[in-house]
Amino acid sequence: MPLERSVIHLKYVSTRGQAPILEFDEALLSGLARDGGLYVPENWPTFRIDDIRALNALSYTETAFRVMRPFTGESISDDDLGRLIEDAYASFDDPDVAPMKQLGDNEWLMELFHGPTLAFKDVAMQFLGRIFDHVLSKRGKRVTIVGATSGDTGSAAIEACRGRDTIEIFILHPEGRVSDVQRLQMTTVDDANVHNIALKGTFDDCQNMVKAMFNDASFRDRCNLSAVNSINWARVMAQSVYYFYAAARLGGPDKPVSFAVPTGNFGNVFAGYGAARMGLNIEQLIIGSNSNDILTRFFETGAMKMTGVSPTISPSMDIQISSNFERLLFELYGRQGNIIKTMMDDFNDTGSFSVGPEQMEQLHKLFSAQRFSDDETRQMIAQVFTGHGKLLDPHSAIGVAAGRARRNNPKTPLVALATAHPAKFPEAVEQASGQRPQLPEKLSGLFDRPEHFTVFENDMAQVQSFIEAHRTDGAN
Ligand SMILES: *Cc1c(COP(=O)(O)O)cnc(C)c1O
Repeated sequence: MPLERSVIHLKYVSTRGQAPILEFDEALLSGLARDGGLYVPENWPTFRIDDIRALNALSYTETAFRVMRPFTGESISDDDLGRLIEDAYASFDDPDVAPMKQLGDNEWLMELFHGPTLAFKDVAMQFLGRIFDHVLSKRGKRVTIVGATSGDTGSAAIEACRGRDTIEIFILHPEGRVSDVQRLQMTTVDDANVHNIALKGTFDDCQNMVKAMFNDASFRDRCNLSAVNSINWARVMAQSVYYFYAAARLGGPDKPVSFAVPTGNFGNVFAGYGAARMGLNIEQLIIGSNSNDILTRFFETGAMKMTGVSPTISPSMDIQISSNFERLLFELYGRQGNIIKTMMDDFNDTGSFSVGPEQMEQLHKLFSAQRFSDDETRQMIAQVFTGHGKLLDPHSAIGVAAGRARRNNPKTPLVALATAHPAKFPEAVEQASGQRPQLPEKLSGLFDRPEHFTVFENDMAQVQSFIEAHRTDGAN
């Protein structure tokens, strides 16, 4: 049974108010809305206290079914949804999917890195790949997924899409600028529908080329381009699940719970906000930034201001803009798409926008944020290793650090989200702790497998002809 029975047919609206209203499956496949906005449910289903309480006895996959069912409307049958969820999380190497480990007093680490690529992106992506395939098969359609990666997203997307008849996937990474483990996780996959492109350039060059390909309307239509990036609604939806799962294990909803979240694109922490809107008793959502601290500065000043990106030891948070923040703005301004459109247009033109004092007051009731330098991040890795015998990757360490710095009430359980396995960032972890984290069994042998990738100059025409030539490889 879904948690909320009265919502049976939720539709999706754009945050900028000018795109068509879509069913779940259409919003899933379209990613970005046609007016440049992001799709959100037209209202938040709210769950009854009793039903949230009952989650305490359920497994991760049963929780996932109950939390996600109200969002999928009539697009997906109950049987299919249940099967897709079971199948997605069978790829995780821990029976709890997202196990919780106690650190300090009333302080927990929720490990979200037990999926195939060792980062939390698998939690949503393993589900997304399967639901894409399901919807496309039903429609007899194929898509070409094109994406740019600075590391984690590419491997998670490739693992989620490999071997699927309905998808041809092309991932661009900047040649020589991702870690060995990150590159090998992408390039050692040998399914015929997976294509790795190493671009002679930076991550920004990769991302700009992908954007330009989406803006090339005739190419986009010919190839049926699609995206699985972090603005896809289904990723947010799948991430809300673990907030419920954690809270139900710590006495929620009768007791409030706080979460600390290392943040880049605001996708993960927005999923926590969604859980709160659905009725989960959350006291604080604490955001941890690295020195690319656009969000922390926003919470300090009320102004969102773009600056350059500098590389850190937590590269998956080295971002210039937090694209999912637009979904929160939409809620803050009473879901008035025209206001959001003006703000985002301003942001595009001038590199900044500001939020008024009433809105900031609203935000501060739930959110707080703090930035940590690489040195502070290393200190936290060392401190947690010494104090609790636990190795954290740099992203997870920023989450724990933010939680410790900002929690208001030591009686409220604090859950810090651990977003990557330490072995994904072995140099940083070893430098901080003196310990070399070992790759888990499933990835041993990674360094011995043959690699598949093609190197390109930063020239879109060449990459486009490669995509057109290869996208039909697995067509029949
Ligand atoms: C992507 C990523 C993040 C940031 O998540 P957002 O949803 O972009 O905020 C944090 N840690 C790791 C390891 C990641 O891969």
